Amino acid sequence: MNVRAKQRLSCLVSSFLQICMTTVWSRVISTVERKRAMHKNVTVIGLKGIKYGNGRNCKNLRRNKEDGTLNGKDLKTAIMVEIIDLSQEIFAGMPVFPSLPEVKITVYATHEEWDGINDVDTISPAVNLLEMGEHTGTHVDSISHMAREFRGQTIETMPLSMFYTEGICLDLSDKKPLELIETVDLQRALFEANLEIKAGDTVLLYTDHYRRAYGTNDWANNPGISVEAGRWLGEQKVAAFGVETMSPGVRKVSNKEVHRICGELGFTHYENLINLHRLIGRGRFRFIGLPLKIRGGTGSPVRAVAIFEK
Ligand SMILES: [Zn+2]
Repeated sequence: MNVRAKQRLSCLVSSFLQICMTTVWSRVISTVERKRAMHKNVTVIGLKGIKYGNGRNCKNLRRNKEDGTLNGKDLKTAIMVEIIDLSQEIFAGMPVFPSLPEVKITVYATHEEWDGINDVDTISPAVNLLEMGEHTGTHVDSISHMAREFRGQTIETMPLSMFYTEGICLDLSDKKPLELIETVDLQRALFEANLEIKAGDTVLLYTDHYRRAYGTNDWANNPGISVEAGRWLGEQKVAAFGVETMSPGVRKVSNKEVHRICGELGFTHYENLINLHRLIGRGRFRFIGLPLKIRGGTGSPVRAVAIFEK
């Protein structure tokens, strides 16, 4: 074998070994990634597609070589989520808690003004002026709202992790107007739903009072939790609980003391939630109800949502 033939053979052997090593290495990588996806509920993005979920729920979206879509969908919509809106609409004249400010929404500036157009039949608002209390519609209370002794813990000082949590929703729709929800009622609802409260959860309480009474004279006569039930929720170390009524307790019975216990045990609550019936029987979800960063705020309207990943 001459020198040139030897060189060619050595080149061929080296290329062959390189291909073998690349194949083995990519297999090792893909096995590691698959195992990580199986065990840690992570998303693994590779050339062939995306793996996400954990264990038996691990899903595999295959990438189309021609257009790069995943199972015929683009990346943004391939990982589907269902977002349930838990928030009331805000409008002038909407129901508010007795003695709190009415909502007023007026046009502050129009497109016509900005464009120097006079004599218009219809104005088109460019900026509205909102007048309303912090505790309007779907909102969260700051710890400072709960009682005098907590006045330093205003809304902008509370950690955002309190408003971005796992959530569960309990069925208490057998409760009548002004009826107290006791600890045993919460425990029974947990048992029936086969759920447990974990530290850091937001626990939503479905009473169906919104659908039954919103806009009627009965709206202010809501069922609510007892003082003992409030303390029990706090002892479970929840981040918050949420109700679809104007107050977490029954007014003039337990409401004020329920607020004070929230301050004492360092958890909060949401009021005026809607659509809680859509969460019943569906287990855990992601709950988000971020407040506005109001300096010195005693609470804030939120756009509360429950998110289920599909
Ligand atoms: Zn409150």
